[in-house]
Amino acid sequence: MDAELLEKFGAIVGDDYRLTSDEDKAPFLHEWRDRYQGQAALVLRPKDTAQISQIMVLANETSTPIVPQGGNTGLVGGQIPFEEGCEVVLSLTRLNNVRSVDPVGHVMVLEAGVTLADAQEVAAKADRLFPLSLAAQGSCQIGGNLASNAGGVNVLAYGNMRELCLGLEVVLADGRIWNGLRALKKDNTGYDLRDLFIGSEGTLGIITAAVLKLYPRPSEQANAFIGLKNLKNIGELYALATQSAGGQLTAFEIMPRLGLEFVVRHAPNASDPLQSPHDWYVLLEISSLGGEGEATGLMTRLLEEGLEKDLVSDAALPSSLEQRAAIWGLRERMSEAQKPEGGSIKHDISVPIASIPDFITSANKAVTDLVPDCRPCPFGHWGDGNIHYNISQPVGMDKQEFLDQWEQVSNCVHGIVMSFNGSISAEHGIGRMKREMLQQVKDPVELDLMRSIKQTLDPKGVLNPGKLL
Ligand SMILES: Cc1cc2nc3c(=O)[nH]c(=O)nc-3n(C[C@H](O)[C@H](O)[C@H](O)COP(=O)(O)OP(=O)(O)OC[C@H]3O[C@@H](n4cnc5c(N)ncnc54)[C@H](O)[C@@H]3O)c2cc1C
Repeated sequence: MDAELLEKFGAIVGDDYRLTSDEDKAPFLHEWRDRYQGQAALVLRPKDTAQISQIMVLANETSTPIVPQGGNTGLVGGQIPFEEGCEVVLSLTRLNNVRSVDPVGHVMVLEAGVTLADAQEVAAKADRLFPLSLAAQGSCQIGGNLASNAGGVNVLAYGNMRELCLGLEVVLADGRIWNGLRALKKDNTGYDLRDLFIGSEGTLGIITAAVLKLYPRPSEQANAFIGLKNLKNIGELYALATQSAGGQLTAFEIMPRLGLEFVVRHAPNASDPLQSPHDWYVLLEISSLGGEGEATGLMTRLLEEGLEKDLVSDAALPSSLEQRAAIWGLRERMSEAQKPEGGSIKHDISVPIASIPDFITSANKAVTDLVPDCRPCPFGHWGDGNIHYNISQPVGMDKQEFLDQWEQVSNCVHGIVMSFNGSISAEHGIGRMKREMLQQVKDPVELDLMRSIKQTLDPKGVLNPGKLL
């Protein structure tokens, strides 16, 4: 990029917020797993929607590629520029104002750079709940959550980010600002543009603010960490929990013994809550708005029935907030605990809930046939049919030798996913990682429509080129 253009972009945000030195740019150019490392001519940190609009006008006029970035916690490389160094990273971090909170209407309007943890805090201060919850919540931002249609651990009760959003403000590729900040539950006035931008991974527009839904805060939450013998028992326990707790079942997460061993081995202060080992674990949460003891009562009856039916082998029920945090910590640290175990080939898939046991059994057999002694570690959101099907390398194998087989292993896993009519990306999106795969698995008509939409909204291809499509 020539010096004159650099100067023009920089002038929009001011000297302190245009980053040009390698040292200043570095945190925006790689992601925490070290999988993606890029280069950028410039990192811009605008303060408001008006500055973003000016940046996009200039980018569109000069065909300068722009990579929107929120908290940089995305897992498919969508927020990282390519290696050529001609792109501009547009960081949303400074757009972090709370525009309004309406506890009566159960909505809040937040700017894109508010972190998810802060959004939860804003809701809590108004005695309301913002239910999106995921392990990266201290860093990921509302704009990034929307752009990736984030999921997390409470989706089975509240839905993912799409269901939690009523309206958006978006800067388009040509710099125009679409003000769609409507707080309406019903609005049948044509095509739903909001749903087009949600999940578009920065390829159709820059999300600058959103109207988000608020919910009543549960008065009580009961949790249990449950040991089980096999996947069939998990399926039956899930059916039982859904039947008895209905919409009050707010989390149903699974992890295998191997996953728990990884966390206990590598995460500080983590320990196995149960006395003896079990092949599988479920972290279950029931929430209630009603009288004190309702959630605990539901949980107790569920576990009693589970024990009677021989579905539950053992269970630990936290009796303090510290104990609750400790068992949730086991689940939240699953991702990072795989890193010290060497190479990990990761998948974020979904299949119909009833097919999860068959999917895991088939995939485990297929990947161990391909790479003998590899260690499948499937964990995640059973209640959403969403399994993070990760595979750790065989003990003692060279890390790179294992990772070199990523494509072959992934093709095999995704082939099984498609045979169950599933999805190759349940919640992390497509980004750079699954762009080629998308071409193979998506209906050609659907792909064609997606390309037409991109062409209409971003004819010069300046928004996050090379991602998603
Ligand atoms: C430990 C860990 C656990 C995780 N658990 C989950 C989980 O349970 N569920 C889940 O869904 N995800 C999970 N993730 C993935 C990640 O946290 C989510 O995808 C999150 O929504 C990304 O938000 P972000 O602000 O970090 O976005 P970024 O990583 O910065 O960007 C993600 C994508 O959105 C685009 N983008 C960012 N901001 C904007 C904007 N304002 N306008 C337009 N485009 C934008 C980027 O270009 C990129 O394509 C996890 C990640 C980690 C590290």
